Amino acid sequence: MSEGAGKAHEKRKIQAIKGVRDILPPETALWNRVEQTAHEVFATYGFGEIRLPIFETTELFARSIGADTDVVSKEMYTFATGYDPHSLEESIPGRTITLRPEATASVCRAYIEHGMHTLPGNVKLYYMGPMFRRERPQKGRYRQFYQIGAEVLSHSGDLKDDARVDAEVIEMLTTFFEKAGLEGTALYLNSIGCKECRPKYVELLRAALAKVKDKLGPDSQRRIETNPLRVLDSKLESEQAIIEKLPRIAEHLCPDCLEEYTEVKKQLAMRGISYTQNFRLVRGLDYYMRTTFEITAPGLGSQNAVCGGGRYDGLVELLGGPPTKGIGFAIGTDRVILSLQDMRKLPVERALEVYVAWMGEKNYPAAVKIARRLRDAGLAVELPPGEMKFGKALGLADKLGARYALIIGDDEVASGQFTVKRLEDGEQKKLGERELVAYLKAGEAP
Ligand code: ATP
Ligand code: MG
Repeated sequence: MSEGAGKAHEKRKIQAIKGVRDILPPETALWNRVEQTAHEVFATYGFGEIRLPIFETTELFARSIGADTDVVSKEMYTFATGYDPHSLEESIPGRTITLRPEATASVCRAYIEHGMHTLPGNVKLYYMGPMFRRERPQKGRYRQFYQIGAEVLSHSGDLKDDARVDAEVIEMLTTFFEKAGLEGTALYLNSIGCKECRPKYVELLRAALAKVKDKLGPDSQRRIETNPLRVLDSKLESEQAIIEKLPRIAEHLCPDCLEEYTEVKKQLAMRGISYTQNFRLVRGLDYYMRTTFEITAPGLGSQNAVCGGGRYDGLVELLGGPPTKGIGFAIGTDRVILSLQDMRKLPVERALEVYVAWMGEKNYPAAVKIARRLRDAGLAVELPPGEMKFGKALGLADKLGARYALIIGDDEVASGQFTVKRLEDGEQKKLGERELVAYLKAGEAP
């Protein structure tokens, strides 16, 4: 490259990568509120926060999510590390790391790694943070997106206990959505059986699909062989009537799965939680079994799922741990925010309370001191770094939406009496430092 070309390259505007985005204030205030709601609600259900790494060995996701899923086969961001991520020494060819596409696998890995099965009672963990999937970006679908999720891992209990845990997890979710202010959510429920009954159902489904093959589109025709359950997921208009007539898994569950499903429904009813059974709800990830659910919210178009979850007994064992039952969910935070924005549930942003209009270089130290005093008292204060003419300072205070302008000039510093101007109506007062704090905090004269 010539020197000239190099320079042009340096000056080119650099933009964020396709499918990722910046989240700016004031929107971040809404994010903080939603995340704070999760911290508070989940804590009342006895969950503790786990902070997980953003990348893991590729093997972790390949083994848990399943090589045949969209996530593993085409959506993962995988990199060669050049070294063994465990020893940091030797270079092992073919060893790669992956940006996490979801966090359940990481939670299970951490559960095993820290011997959490020896902890008393069920292990209840929640997490929040970014996930990465190489999908086609659109509204509510990004390549870096955010999830808030929780998992319950247990090593004892019967089917009835499991159903109660499932129902409690769903109860926690409905509480979260309620406290976050999300309205119009709907809960969809299904059981997708277990390794005993699902393969038999899949064969039944495959046979039924084979009979109507000619009427299906090319994608579904292909899936009859590769993954017939995915046909149930089809959004193709011409296939809807056909899908309605296909055998439904809930009618082909083994006695254990049926017992658990019936009990989950009973438990939800007992808790006053309404749901709709949806036999077409088959989770995208391989490791799910029995209870599966999804929550939708309004204002999102076709990307309307704000939460997906389900039971995954056996996943911990698959990853080399002891026999363990699991149930969890992941909330799509981006979509929750979009839905709240659609409902105009915007947070009240912290407004600027005091703008310090100081004049005269030698009065700057006094302005610094008083700004600090006011901030200590919890007030939001703007202290401009450079001196400004009085009119310009007041104009800026107004534009920034400050409630008060505090005027600090030679007279004020000499007398210790500061001029405060309420910008709304122009009312002015002269106050000493102590009265000033009381006045600004109370919003009225002492
Ligand atoms: P979808 O059917 O919308 O692709 P999914 O089944 O792939 O969802 P899960 O893996 O169950 O989703 O993740 C749980 C939640 O995370 C989803 O319900 C959704 O709200 C959110 N989510 C998943 N992928 C994305 C993405 N690319 N961008 C934004 N949110 C996402
Ligand atoms: Mg997906």
